[in-house]
Amino acid sequence: MSAVAPLDPPAFARAPQRACHVHKFGGSSLADAAHIARLAALVATDARLRPVVVSAMAGTTNALVALGDAACAGEDWKPGWAALRTRHLETADAFESDTGGALHIALEADLGVLARDLQTLEAHADARDDDATLARIHGCGEQLSSRLAQAALGPEWHRLDAREVLVVHAAEMGAVVDWDASRAKLAAWRLAHGARDVVITGFVARDADGRDTTLGRNGSDYSAAIFANLFDADALTIWTDVDGVLSADPRLVPDAVCLDAMSYAEACELAYFGAKVLHPQTLAPVQSRGVPVRIRNSRNPAAPGTLIAPEAAPAASPVKGLSLVRDVAVLELVGNGLVGVPGMAERLFAALHGAGVSVTMISQGSSEHSICCVVRAEQAQRGHDAIVEAFADAIAEGQAQGVAMTGDLCVLAAVGDGMVGAQGVAARLFDGLAQAHVNIRAIAQGASERNISVAIAQDDATRALRAAHAAFWLSPQTVSVGVIGPGNVGRALLAQLGEVIPALRARAGVDLRLRALASGRRMHLADAALDPATAGTLLDEAAAACDLDAFAAHVRGGHLPHAMIVDCSASDAVAAKYADWLAAGIHVVTPNKHAGSGDWQRYLRIADARAQGASRFLYEATVGAGLPVIVTLRNLLDTGDSLHAIDGMLSGTLAWLFNSYDGRRPFSELVREAQALGYTEPDPRDDLSGLDVARKLVILAREAGRTLSLDDVAIESLVPEALREVPLAVFLERLRELDAPMQARLEAARADGCGLRHIAHLGADGEASVGVRALPADHACMHTRLTDNLVQFTTARYADNPLVVQGPGAGPQVTAAGVFGDVLSIAHALGARTGWRHA
Ligand code: ADP
Ligand code: ASP
Ligand code: MG
Repeated sequence: MSAVAPLDPPAFARAPQRACHVHKFGGSSLADAAHIARLAALVATDARLRPVVVSAMAGTTNALVALGDAACAGEDWKPGWAALRTRHLETADAFESDTGGALHIALEADLGVLARDLQTLEAHADARDDDATLARIHGCGEQLSSRLAQAALGPEWHRLDAREVLVVHAAEMGAVVDWDASRAKLAAWRLAHGARDVVITGFVARDADGRDTTLGRNGSDYSAAIFANLFDADALTIWTDVDGVLSADPRLVPDAVCLDAMSYAEACELAYFGAKVLHPQTLAPVQSRGVPVRIRNSRNPAAPGTLIAPEAAPAASPVKGLSLVRDVAVLELVGNGLVGVPGMAERLFAALHGAGVSVTMISQGSSEHSICCVVRAEQAQRGHDAIVEAFADAIAEGQAQGVAMTGDLCVLAAVGDGMVGAQGVAARLFDGLAQAHVNIRAIAQGASERNISVAIAQDDATRALRAAHAAFWLSPQTVSVGVIGPGNVGRALLAQLGEVIPALRARAGVDLRLRALASGRRMHLADAALDPATAGTLLDEAAAACDLDAFAAHVRGGHLPHAMIVDCSASDAVAAKYADWLAAGIHVVTPNKHAGSGDWQRYLRIADARAQGASRFLYEATVGAGLPVIVTLRNLLDTGDSLHAIDGMLSGTLAWLFNSYDGRRPFSELVREAQALGYTEPDPRDDLSGLDVARKLVILAREAGRTLSLDDVAIESLVPEALREVPLAVFLERLRELDAPMQARLEAARADGCGLRHIAHLGADGEASVGVRALPADHACMHTRLTDNLVQFTTARYADNPLVVQGPGAGPQVTAAGVFGDVLSIAHALGARTGWRHA
């Protein structure tokens, strides 16, 4: 016996018995025999009457459209036709083993009609003007699929070719149902066939003259709603291949969420603005009768789906969904003479109407200086010409400057009843788009406040959609992260990221996605987020050769709202890329000192690029590892203080050496010990030379607005001249040569009541020096421990008693924590709600 208690059936499954429940299956639910075989189980509800509306098998309508086009162009359609035939006959084998059986015969008959129609189009050019032939070709898929569905559902099921009963006429917005005619025909059909379950062809219909037509692409949703009305159904279920209506197209926004419920109005707006899951006209026929519609997944029937009903309970987010209309253009009539002149808008829209151009979106500034409307790209030129013609007099007289046309645009729409009366919705949308560097070309909000639409460049579409999605907390703030140079600091950072990312996502709404990793020689690029804890192993021999441009392009991506590169290398070549990255809108975080202390012109380029790309460049960990040194200096300056001097111990290694050096053990012995403890660089001369400290001093000086470069720093190297160029082994062997001079300095200092420390100094007039100094016993630097760094800011406000930042300033863990802090401050600027929250 199972230990698990059976789950309660979902509420909708316990609904009272229904008189009539219409089901609709999309192509994806009819993809092959296995899918079709599942239909019976899916419609096994408690309704007495079950009309089942079917689309064509997945991909069939596209294939038929291509066949029709080929025939019209006089091209060979036969191989395509044969492939369709094979697919349908083979699918039929699952339901009827005998190829001479009724199902096979019926399919062959439909396929014969199709072949004849194609033949006619191919052979007779004048037949190509006959829309009915093409409509019959396009609708053939539903003939075939309905026969297969009927075979799967069982012999007691009827089959109804919708063309026998459904009468429509074409109108501007698509097909319009002739309800009286259709109702009468269906009544007659039911009289003749009895009230039995029935499979109905979706998509197809006839006009009042009996000529074949269709309801337009994706139209079988509409068919289902029409039949739900005609059958007086009390429920309509649309079965598709996603769990319901999602907050955005899941093909573009991977973390779109499934909505529990929406109002008719919300669903209509979303469908109108391109959400493929529902044909835009679907809801009208059910709305008038208040029939609830449920969108469900035929591949995951356990999911409850989305309920579309007259009213929907408010959801957490004011915006329910986002969608995109692609391939639009903006037409803008501009003119000073339009201000205050009545009837301008009317004249413009009448012109567009006359030219058969439909308008997706309208916006007019209150100055009436320009009127701007969004139209479908293929109608743009026609619309443009119509407006120019309608305003020819105004243009000639100079009242209007002309009509501007901008193509390659799309419209992003945010839809939700919760937006009505809610403040800040538009701000949130625009903010999200701005952070993703998406430029908005036109804005419209319907008076219903149920929809805010923006026209944006087509190239920005996916990135904009994801950024907008993130902005409404439908998905967390998402940052695409690339890490370069997993040495000690990089590895420690990855470990810290691995520990904290899940909590950041859950608690702070920030989603850091590690999508790229590089070492000096290799790189690994991933679309889905890598687990930082194990990502290091991906940089083995199998990884691709490192290409920093490809790396950055991947991190930037076309779609994730934000991008960041964390450079944990010590490479000048990587620093040389920062300006390009920042200009491209990639945030850069680094403990690498090369950019901050390197070539001055490059430093200026980086500063410019940062402004240009609206991206941030943070490098707190370049000085004092995790200590808040740079941010402290920034705060002092930003609040109007003025810097007099910086003094301090900026090297953890040298701090340890001089903290430990009391003359009892020779200096060289301590250098060896520091090396053994891993406190020094592999070659201790890199620390002893003072160069690293000088770099940090340059970074601080530049932060304070000084024009300082390494050459300007007086650096005292602790490595005797003779030992600077010799091999490491020789240097280590001759290390003792450091001892006597250092001993002499210590004794001299002691004679004056002082001790020795390695100090960096930046003075008020710009002088900068790095070296060993004798300091009195009460100096702050004499009270440090182990690898402590200490930075003393003497300023106008902190003149008598300088501000001191002190603490451990070396080691991979604290350096990585400093880097991580910068990463988080960027996330914070993007809207993350970091910080402790009490339960
Ligand atoms: P069917 O063949 O069942 O009619 P469609 O392909 O026409 O299915 O529509 C379902 C598809 O619509 C989904 O697979 C999904 O990729 C796409 N889609 C676009 N926008 C949305 C959305 N907002 N919610 C759900 N699906 C969407
Ligand atoms: N088969 C038709 C199409 O692909 C109708 C539909 O699937 O809804 O457009
Ligand atoms: Mg569809």
